Amino acid sequence: MLIQSKKCHPQNLPIRAYKEQILYGIDTNSTLIILAETGSGKTTQIPQYLIEAGYGGEERVLVSLPRKMAAISIAQRVSDENGTELGQDIGYRVRFESKVSENTKIEYVTDGTLIQIIMGNPLIEGYSIVMLDDIHERTLNTDLLLCLIKKIQKKRPQLKIIVSSATMEVQLLSNFFTNSKIIAIRGRNYEVDIMYLLEPCKNYVIAAVELAYHIHKKMPEGDILVFLTSVEEILAFIHLWSHHKTNCIVLPLHANLGIDKQLLVFKQHSNRKIVVSTNVAESSVTIDGIVYVIDSCYQKVKVYDYKRNLDQLNVLPISQQSAAQRAGRAGRTKDGICYRLCTKEDYLKLPITFPPEILRSNLTELILQIRSFSLTPNHLQCSNTFLTPVSNEQLIHSINTLMSLKLIDENFSLTELGNAIVDYPLETQLAVCVENSFLDEYQCSDEMLKIASILSIQGGIFSSDATPLQMLKAKKALGCKEGDVLSLHNIFVRYMNIGNKGNWCDTYRVSKHKLESAGKIYKQIQKRRKNRQIKSSIQDVEAVQRCFVSGFFSQVAQRENTAREGVYRNIYTKQLVHLHPASVLTVSYPEWVIYHELIEQNHKLTMHNVTELDPHWLFEIAPHFYKDARQEIAELKHQQEKEKLDKVDADKQQKQQELLMIQESK
Ligand code: ADP
Ligand code: MG
Repeated sequence: MLIQSKKCHPQNLPIRAYKEQILYGIDTNSTLIILAETGSGKTTQIPQYLIEAGYGGEERVLVSLPRKMAAISIAQRVSDENGTELGQDIGYRVRFESKVSENTKIEYVTDGTLIQIIMGNPLIEGYSIVMLDDIHERTLNTDLLLCLIKKIQKKRPQLKIIVSSATMEVQLLSNFFTNSKIIAIRGRNYEVDIMYLLEPCKNYVIAAVELAYHIHKKMPEGDILVFLTSVEEILAFIHLWSHHKTNCIVLPLHANLGIDKQLLVFKQHSNRKIVVSTNVAESSVTIDGIVYVIDSCYQKVKVYDYKRNLDQLNVLPISQQSAAQRAGRAGRTKDGICYRLCTKEDYLKLPITFPPEILRSNLTELILQIRSFSLTPNHLQCSNTFLTPVSNEQLIHSINTLMSLKLIDENFSLTELGNAIVDYPLETQLAVCVENSFLDEYQCSDEMLKIASILSIQGGIFSSDATPLQMLKAKKALGCKEGDVLSLHNIFVRYMNIGNKGNWCDTYRVSKHKLESAGKIYKQIQKRRKNRQIKSSIQDVEAVQRCFVSGFFSQVAQRENTAREGVYRNIYTKQLVHLHPASVLTVSYPEWVIYHELIEQNHKLTMHNVTELDPHWLFEIAPHFYKDARQEIAELKHQQEKEKLDKVDADKQQKQQELLMIQESK
């Protein structure tokens, strides 16, 4: 059915002039590399040109984007331009949601979804062209996709590939894809003026609020998009803004929000709209009506530290490339202004691009996926597998982890367990726990599936602004003294059984939307293992704890004998780690604990989601990992004793010095 187009008439976008060149390029080459400025019309127009030229008949055109919000909103936009209903000619597929039909010719998907598609359909049959869009974001998924797609094209030479990027990394791409053609597209649609500060600002959240207020009071109409680094900063902005009594509509935008809430930013309002976002709005999307962009010029970056086995979250200056993308969110439907909250000199000192995620991530999962596709003959011959080669140190670390989890063997081939878990939509260690939970020795798949679902929720299941005390209260209300993991399980079960009755979620600051997401993940894993009987360990808490050890055995800590409670030491890395104040174990401080995650906060390493542990389980469940453990534990004791003695010495010395000073002053 054709419905009346709502608003759209494709404008005279810069890409128009390149239409013939693009179509000729794709007809005569197997791979096309498009270098184009933001706003030129790549994402919305190229797929439509392909359809006009006769692609997308028997086989579909697939466009892959880094983010869910972009995939959905762009599919909507292209449907509108095309005058068809979303899900008919043009559709989308993202995790947990899809709108496609038999007639669909263009499918917008996320990079994660495309990886899942490839797992089930290794030659991606049914698709004639794959467009990997916004490759410059260089997420782990885009890098994995680049090597998968290249491999698939070798096996299915008729598959056409288009990659689009906003940076000059095209040379790298063109070396990566032999037989490819580069088309560079110049020009953007509307002008964006760039403004800088004369003096650096002390606090960019406060500066952003002041500037937004100035724009609101003094500048012509047009919506405002603010880029900050985290949920906390977004909440701080909204709080500070509320002191100004205005009629503006202020909307937060970050990955922890449900997709429905994220899509609210596209709604038009008669009052001025202010969207306060993390970098989820940095590329791909067009929010119609945005005239002003305020860019903090900072972002939160996750960096994996091999030596300490943890992800560090740092707030760092963005690259000039990101700054250009952010500025490009204005000037999409009319001229705009981008205010950078730094001086021009400081802007010029920013790096041109940022190191790709693959160089600063834990590669365990990536290597497992690569191995499952048999992409490399040998683990150390990865050098031309990825667009940017990874270091041997990174590889060895991941290989060791995979071996200790028994996911690959000495030949680096996937074991039975490795094969079983590779398509789980979960982080590797959690997937191992879930798979093991079906074994006779644990028999707790019901509990473990739920636990894995909750622990997969980014940022946890509490409201973004819940305090540790509030979290603790919720856990205690339904808690389980053995630890947080089981407490969270109980909260989830309660929600699954009686929902938000009595407004329980609000009272205990638990996020309903996050529990709903956990429910979706639960159903997804359940479906994947539908031929297996899900068993509950009923009251056997120990079975669940032991099963957790089977995946997380490397994350064990012993309490330090210090006056400060909640201080532990990881028995593997030997580093000092702290119990999170929201842990139910802050009541008992058991000697041995095992944790799900280690996060660095205020220069302190904090264990999140902690459970009590009997150290004997380590020798039983992970003897290969702890074969030297008795020795290590002895060493640890020795080290603790030494530190204690050192402290006594230091105290003595200080006392003596104080004594001396007193004597001298006499
Ligand atoms: P690119 O991928 O090159 O950055 P897009 O194809 O996403 O560009 O968009 C090109 C232009 O199409 C935008 O700059 C804007 O003018 C218009 N456009 C795209 N999406 C929308 C939308 N949702 N509402 C209004 N205009 C839009
Ligand atoms: Mg785009």
